[in-house]
Amino acid sequence: MTEGDELHDVVVVGAGFAGIAMGVALKASGRDFLILEKADEIGGTWRENRYPGCACDVPAHLYSFSFEPNPYWSKTFADADEIQDYLLYCVEKYALRPHVRTDATVQHARYDAATGVWTVTVASAWGELRQLRARALVLGVGALHEPVVPDLPGLETFEGELRHTATWDRGLSVQGRRVGVIGTGSSGVQIIPPLAEDAAHLTVFQRTPAWVLPRDNTDYSEATIDRFERHPMVMRAHRTQLRATHDARGRAFTDHPGLLRAMQLRARRHLAAAVSDPTLRERLTPGYTMGCKRILLSDAYYPAMARPDVTLATDAIERVEPRAVVTADGTRHEVDFLVLATGFDPIGSYRYLGVAGLDGRVLGQEFAHDAQTYLGVTVPAFPNLFVLLGPNTLLGHTSVLLMLEAQVALTMRLLDERDRRGARAVQVRPEVVPGFMAEIDRRSEGSVWESGCHSWYLDDAGRNRTLWPGSVREYERRLTRPELVDYTFG
Ligand code: NAP
Repeated sequence: MTEGDELHDVVVVGAGFAGIAMGVALKASGRDFLILEKADEIGGTWRENRYPGCACDVPAHLYSFSFEPNPYWSKTFADADEIQDYLLYCVEKYALRPHVRTDATVQHARYDAATGVWTVTVASAWGELRQLRARALVLGVGALHEPVVPDLPGLETFEGELRHTATWDRGLSVQGRRVGVIGTGSSGVQIIPPLAEDAAHLTVFQRTPAWVLPRDNTDYSEATIDRFERHPMVMRAHRTQLRATHDARGRAFTDHPGLLRAMQLRARRHLAAAVSDPTLRERLTPGYTMGCKRILLSDAYYPAMARPDVTLATDAIERVEPRAVVTADGTRHEVDFLVLATGFDPIGSYRYLGVAGLDGRVLGQEFAHDAQTYLGVTVPAFPNLFVLLGPNTLLGHTSVLLMLEAQVALTMRLLDERDRRGARAVQVRPEVVPGFMAEIDRRSEGSVWESGCHSWYLDDAGRNRTLWPGSVREYERRLTRPELVDYTFG
């Protein structure tokens, strides 16, 4: 272990959208900072997810930084490669490269109350351990990072190719193979159409059908791109209009369930237009209220499910054999390539980071018990620690980057205030947190997310610990004009 003297003002963990947004703000402020990234390149989820069909289901002009509008988005919904290119561009434009250390995995971080400094232990790709210190630690580790591998009897005996969507390699081909896909969430619905095209046969193992709306992904014409380039105000107006449309959808989740019924009708028509077989249609029709799980957008999913070389299996998976998946009805579905589109553990990233705050409290353990934060950013007993895109700050209806930018603004404000007061540490007052969590619980109670389906939005106790149950505007207001009395500076 190298115990260097390396001390930074701020250490940021993760170089995805969150780490990059934080880096841009830190760079502008002139603070000293380092971004640690365990992979060999920046990009987070958009570098990591390489499965065919991977794209963002939020329009690109909304799923981009407000401070870095991009006139060149090629279509309404950008694919993963285009988003990754955008992030690479941001890193160069804002001169973040010298601040990014790749192949650097944070193993643990320990807070020292006497100095207000975090000691961070980092492992390099070649196994060398190094310690560095930081006056503030920012976690931009993402909620959709640790793949969930389902606990299916016999899965370890499978002899074909086994892949989670998040561990796909670009060179992988399913050409001529019998493929099985487990899961019909956002990732499943994206990967199924391209696999159906290439595989000899595709079997889709569906536990719960998804609500799927048309995607209507259209290319921006050269004339539009040219107009956006020459008239940034026109591009901003486009973003504003996209934001307003998506905000309205958000209100349906908490306040206006009637709007969801209208959207359900649209989804049923979308299904009927592609699937003529009434039995198949029935099996693809969800039985829960739309919005309880993430609403999916696809024009290709239902046509893929209607193909003669695609089988929908809806009986529970009983076991996996070396070359087959056996369902509860006794059917042996022969497959030699099995894809797990089974999602992520939203607090998994925290579980594997040993972040120890005051009194030996470990963040991953606290979050596993109940992810209690204040506004999703600060955590009691973890001074000088800031979480980006953390618990209760994700969204089901619009761009999370709006939330992220507010979190970055709050973090900068609290750091500046700490330093202005000559304090060593800033932390949320523990007595503020129960009230905030009670507010989250109260506002989530009547929402569609707690209307009876099973989703990764809810924790093991059935509490919403993932989504923000209010409007983005409200969240932005609360973070950009913070109540400083809610924090101690000492
Ligand atoms: P997910 O939404 O959690 O879906 C997982 C799927 O796997 C569900 O259909 C689930 O069924 C199924 N499943 C899990 N365990 C199973 C088991 N043991 N047997 C059978 N089926 C099982 O995961 P995801 O599709 O990866 O999406 C996660 C999140 O990532 C999304 O909500 C979204 O926020 C994000 N994402 C976004 C995009 C985008 O376009 N922006 C793309 C991909 C992912 P049940 O429904 O019955 O649980």
